[in-house]
Amino acid sequence: MRYVSTRGSAPDLGFNDVLLAGLATDGGLYMPESWPALQPSRGARTYVERAVEVMLPFVTPDIDEITLTHLCTEAYSTFRHPAITPLVQIDHRHWVQELFHGPTLAFKDVALQLVGKLFDHVLSARGERVTIVGATSGDTGSAAIDGVSGCANVDIVILYPLGRTSDVQRKQMTTVDAPNVHTVAVEGTFDDCQDLVKAMFNDVDFRTRNQLSAVNSINWARVMAQTVYYVTASEAFATAPTFSVPTGNFGNVLAGWIAREMGAPIRDFIISSNTNDILTRFVNDHDMTARGVVPTLSPSMDIQVSSNFERLLFEMNGRDGGMTAEQLTRFRSTGRLDIEGDQRDRFMAGSFRAAAFDDVSTLSEIRRVYDASGYVLDPHSATGTAAARMLSAAGDGGPVITLATAHPAKFPDAVEEAIGFRPELPAHLADLFERDERTQTVANDLATVQRLVEQLTR
Ligand SMILES: *Cc1c(COP(=O)(O)O)cnc(C)c1O
Repeated sequence: MRYVSTRGSAPDLGFNDVLLAGLATDGGLYMPESWPALQPSRGARTYVERAVEVMLPFVTPDIDEITLTHLCTEAYSTFRHPAITPLVQIDHRHWVQELFHGPTLAFKDVALQLVGKLFDHVLSARGERVTIVGATSGDTGSAAIDGVSGCANVDIVILYPLGRTSDVQRKQMTTVDAPNVHTVAVEGTFDDCQDLVKAMFNDVDFRTRNQLSAVNSINWARVMAQTVYYVTASEAFATAPTFSVPTGNFGNVLAGWIAREMGAPIRDFIISSNTNDILTRFVNDHDMTARGVVPTLSPSMDIQVSSNFERLLFEMNGRDGGMTAEQLTRFRSTGRLDIEGDQRDRFMAGSFRAAAFDDVSTLSEIRRVYDASGYVLDPHSATGTAAARMLSAAGDGGPVITLATAHPAKFPDAVEEAIGFRPELPAHLADLFERDERTQTVANDLATVQRLVEQLTR
């Protein structure tokens, strides 16, 4: 498989180069040059066996089947459920697919556990080493750290804003006891952390000297890994299901759209948002105007501009990279994305519906589902079941699957506010608050942070 940039002017690359590059040199995102047709299973009995069948065309010829099987087996051995992403029924036609059985309790583990193994494999084959640098406000940092902890060829340095992550989130990062994992508390905000990371990448000397790399949500390998659970879930039903997806950077729902392009039996998608509803406005009111980010009970969806939307835009534009680049340049200067009406309608119809919910409705949805079924949702997943209920009421009665993107114990305050008790952490994290933390605090100053990164990874 060869990969092309959504902005049309970067060289096309094979899988391994796309994995390590992240962003294309023209600022675009990598996409496979064509969608492989999903093959019927050759008798896969487990998630890992089906995962290998689904992903093999994307990594060929760089990675062979035996190696991919080995990497997937290792990656998903860290999950606490044998089905990896099990389905749970919550009413007569509504299922929840639990994507939170990985080590850090959020769906990002499904991709990042595999990406960590892929990085280590490709780097050791090439005799190279990288330093992954990232900023986090919570979930991504711990999932990335867990994905690469213990990898021989990767150091990871994660910056987080001092005093501004939840205790669970901080502890999940700072208590990982691996020599290649480094966490840094910055005296500043999440935006300051992101600016420091961007500045380190823009410092070409520093970037080259330290072999900087990233595993943020635009990395193609993350999207690829997420197509698998859409395939396994849809194949479990006799009628093509609708998926309801709590959405932030659009990576998750994009993976579902790709699975359907490949031939997975999926009817359509519901995009759920919190108060940060740019995608919902785009689908329902044709308005893609960026506004300020409002903090909510579902922080991993507090996003203003969904970075992976660029991949869908590229498809909407008939894979015209020049046109995509032009629209995005205009979006950056005006804050408004202008797409021709019938082009958008033709593309979106039959694929995407959307709904947004504020914190009050999110809490009452957690309460409603608990009262009706005894099932406890986290606030991100609750926007998904609320959207599914609202939008599929008028549908034809086919199955609806809401993706549960986080374990409720990751957001105990919101859950307690809704139903009066705090969900318990799973056994492997039960002693999280007794574990020793290992972190350092630094001033919000580029030179200081750069010096620290070089010291830590020497
Ligand atoms: C990251 C995240 C999301 C949003 O996923 P995207 O791929 O960015 O759309 C939703 N819920 C949780 C819990 C997350 O961690």
